[in-house]
Amino acid sequence: MPFPSKLPIPAEVLRIAERLEGAGFETWCVGGAVRDNLLGYVNKDFDLATAATPRQVTGLFRRTIPIGIDHGTVAVLDKNRRPHEVTTFRRDVKTDGRHAVVEFGVSLEADLARRDFTMNAIAYHPTRFEWRDPLAGAADLEAKVIRAVGNPVHRFREDYLRILRALRFAARFGFAIEPETWNAAVENAVGLRHLSAERVREEWFRGLQGAQRPSELVRLWSEVGALEVWLPELQCGAPGAVPERLRVADRIEGQDPVLITAYLSDNPGATLARLKCSNVDTERAAAVGRYVTQHPDPGSPAHVRRWMAQAGSAVDDLVAIWVAQGADARLRVAVKRIRASGAPLTLGELAVDGEDLLAAGIEQGPEVGRILQQLLDEVLQEPELNSRTRLLQRALDLRARDPLSAPPSPAKDRSDETNARSDRG
Ligand code: ATP
Ligand code: MG
Repeated sequence: MPFPSKLPIPAEVLRIAERLEGAGFETWCVGGAVRDNLLGYVNKDFDLATAATPRQVTGLFRRTIPIGIDHGTVAVLDKNRRPHEVTTFRRDVKTDGRHAVVEFGVSLEADLARRDFTMNAIAYHPTRFEWRDPLAGAADLEAKVIRAVGNPVHRFREDYLRILRALRFAARFGFAIEPETWNAAVENAVGLRHLSAERVREEWFRGLQGAQRPSELVRLWSEVGALEVWLPELQCGAPGAVPERLRVADRIEGQDPVLITAYLSDNPGATLARLKCSNVDTERAAAVGRYVTQHPDPGSPAHVRRWMAQAGSAVDDLVAIWVAQGADARLRVAVKRIRASGAPLTLGELAVDGEDLLAAGIEQGPEVGRILQQLLDEVLQEPELNSRTRLLQRALDLRARDPLSAPPSPAKDRSDETNARSDRG
């Protein structure tokens, strides 16, 4: 791949590079933005690699954030307080598969050699417009190949996350993983269990978001052995024909990683908990798992209202899945209409509350909750019933029919139900 004569470096990045160069520190653009620009994708997030030590970097700029001083990374804030990463040329001196101890004071070439893949080890000089590509990353970009820098077995054992990064880039760019790199990844996949859940989650989520097709990422994770280690509930990733579930996952709008993971997992709550997702995300995924097989009849507003009342905050996720499954858009329309109508779907939206029932003479105790539930049930069937007078009247009726003093016989229960239903009908 021939190098373009120049890359469009944003003015703020250029100013930082010029300041460092002006102080005598060699400074290059590196990493993902260089790669993406060579591939023709827009990416203005240029990282800088410099000969200046972190302390020298912080000394040269007014506003900096030490994001990883030990690893040589400082964020320099521009005049709009936007951060730009500046990392000191470094070499890993000790690694254990998840962390590294690094040494500064090395050359650009040494810095490029410690990077993960050849396509991520290309440097561009922002003021001299020069290129450095000692690992022939441009040729691999041209060939659409992901190749580890140096010995892939060693590189993966230094940091197992690199295995997952290879899969992410493959699914994002539609690239092949070079055979030796691939074999080393498969051989060392068991080491993935040493990684922290947070790093794995971030890789998995970024991978799903950026993949051309999420199913491709799942296939790669499956084939390399990563699914087995970290996402065993995603059995649909098994090799062979693309199962229907993966096809549906590819069609879920927005490529939301929480939703896709929830949909693909046989136990979404467990999967998200293992990835140490937030409680909100874990609960969201669990709700998807609970209701995903329940399909309301979009032709029956009452049926849809009952389903919405049950599924609660999972409704939009479930609609997104339903649409991806190829169902017609009627459910989405029905949900929209019900929301616009303001029809009550929760106890809180009823025109009466527990206090009202007590004031109307219903005895304190479980009876109050039971009657409220019954009222909601009826209002879900017929939203017009949601008026204070009607519901209070109905509450007294319900009490009269089922006095607490007489323990209900099964036969009586059934007749009550029939009555309730005929009331609604
Ligand atoms: P993205 O576009 O997804 O941000 P990226 O290549 O920029 O991709 P970053 O995580 O931002 O990925 O890392 C920036 C650069 O740092 C990479 O291009 C690579 O050169 C290097 N790098 C990042 N993580 C590792 C790693 N685990 N091992 C070796 N080099 C790495
Ligand atoms: Mg990046």
